[in-house]
Amino acid sequence: MAITETRAIVLRLIEFSETSLVVTLLTRDFGKLTGLAKGARRPKGPFEAALDLLNVCHVLVLPKSGESLALLTGAKLERRFRAGQRDLARLYAAYYVVELLLELTDEGDPQPELFALAEQTLHDLDGNSDITRCLIRFQLQALRILGHVPRLESCVGCGSALPAEGSVSFGFLAGGLLCPRCAPGERQRVRLSSKARQSLQSAVAAGDRLDFELAVPARGELHGLLAQYVTHLIGRRPKLLAWANVWLRREAAGSKVPHVDAEQGPQPPATDSDQA
Ligand SMILES: [Zn+2]
Repeated sequence: MAITETRAIVLRLIEFSETSLVVTLLTRDFGKLTGLAKGARRPKGPFEAALDLLNVCHVLVLPKSGESLALLTGAKLERRFRAGQRDLARLYAAYYVVELLLELTDEGDPQPELFALAEQTLHDLDGNSDITRCLIRFQLQALRILGHVPRLESCVGCGSALPAEGSVSFGFLAGGLLCPRCAPGERQRVRLSSKARQSLQSAVAAGDRLDFELAVPARGELHGLLAQYVTHLIGRRPKLLAWANVWLRREAAGSKVPHVDAEQGPQPPATDSDQA
């Protein structure tokens, strides 16, 4: 196979030798891809320090053959994620996106739409967009692209119409809203308030846009619902969820995030040994 150029987001870096890295990327054309980047730890060379967590780059890839890893032969930086230097809440939110991308995707399964969504989400988080809105949109759109969009228009159990207003049950196994008749038979379910239900429907209808209805009391509830749904799909609780209160609290209060010492912050997925 020939060397191919593609665009990529850096999801994980593992030191392989004094000069080399094993890099996991979300690429536009190959999906998730793990490759060896020889010489990437040298300041000068074909990688020009482009391979840093959350960066968007152009990479040159020699796809894997058989059991060997793919080889990365060069990279050029397109965009660096800078918000982490000024706002740790944005950094944690970006790490959460990366954790979900690592967990929800398979190697060698190209999803150009997911790549575009991830790139847009990191771009918005790097700017001044509302973090909770960015994450709600990211999770809903990623679930749709990957075939797990929750059903909201009628009962996911029996297909019957749902009460037009008021609170309603959401079933994680069934993957959507449940009518009062089906809800008691579902083991994994939560009650969704009327406001959260409206916000969820508005967010789904908004598609790629961030200007959906999101009532303040519904923020934490909706975030919690999607996080629990994702937890159900990947089979464990995302590690970065422990830090979600940093951005949720701040945005709910409309105030500045309380200072969080970087030393106490979460480790990026890249350096997490049990994910390596
Ligand atoms: Zn039903």
